[in-house]
Amino acid sequence: MSAVVIDGKAIAAQIRSDIAKQVKELRATGLVPGLAVVMVGDDPASSIYVNMKKRACDELGISSRQHLLPASTSQAELLDLIESLNADPDVHGILVQLPLPDHIDEQEVIAAISPAKDVDGFHPVNLGSLVAGRHGFVPCTPAGIIRLIKSTGVEIQGKECVVVGRSVIVGKPTALLLLQENGTVTVCHSKTKDLADKCRRADILVVAVGRPGFIKSDMVKPGAVVIDVGINRVDGRLIGDVEFETVKEIAGYITPVPGGVGPMTIAMLMHNTVQAALEQQRQS
Ligand code: NDP
Repeated sequence: MSAVVIDGKAIAAQIRSDIAKQVKELRATGLVPGLAVVMVGDDPASSIYVNMKKRACDELGISSRQHLLPASTSQAELLDLIESLNADPDVHGILVQLPLPDHIDEQEVIAAISPAKDVDGFHPVNLGSLVAGRHGFVPCTPAGIIRLIKSTGVEIQGKECVVVGRSVIVGKPTALLLLQENGTVTVCHSKTKDLADKCRRADILVVAVGRPGFIKSDMVKPGAVVIDVGINRVDGRLIGDVEFETVKEIAGYITPVPGGVGPMTIAMLMHNTVQAALEQQRQS
């Protein structure tokens, strides 16, 4: 039997609609959640993401600001801008679009963002909170992945969860969140031996590798939940890391690309921005 296709677009739309209602109520009380997006250079993929984030803010009633800086911007100039955004009471969330040009130290820039405004969840304080199981901003794509898994009704607790990929943006935080949900988690990467065997053990398989069609049907346990994070551009089309057509004949649930994890990432960014606004209002 063919897998149930998890409709990330519909789930994200529902989350956005709930956030829009919440923002409307907040605006009525005088609180307008605000997001500042900073981009350095003119990477075409980054431009698309920045515009998608702006459109989502507009649709939900979140005030958004774009700081589009030339590629020649120095690290000191960028740090000055972040300092001013940290101090601006109308800005509740700050997002620096990655990647940054080579002459800028990404880690230093992320560390300069106030943890209270770090809606991407990449600041060491927020990543540390995730490790410690404390409240903080959770990176958007991993948060979206957990929502998608929960949407299936399959319990994470006690399940064999395999995450392929160990990036700070996706793989590692996803593994930590699955652990928080009491999954038994294995993290695989490019040096992992017998990858297919490890993947076949998974009741829940999350793939964030960045290689089109990398996971084949013989690497998947029958009935598994398969979450495909990959976004690969091949001949002008977007292709995931999972060979969708063959794996969907084996899996129990599967996310499509596009329309799976992608829409959730922006929905969770909007969620984090509203949470940031509420928390900053509470602290003030
Ligand atoms: P990275 O390149 O940072 O990480 C890729 C990971 O895959 C690394 O841990 C790497 O291992 C591992 N890997 C590479 N080759 C193999 C292999 N042959 N076998 C096993 N593991 C391997 O990528 P990201 O995590 O940033 O992104 C992954 C994918 O997800 C990309 O396609 C990206 O575009 C997409 N993405 C999608 C998002 C969305 O919103 N849907 C958001 C973010 C990313 P090692 O550490 O050993 O090098």
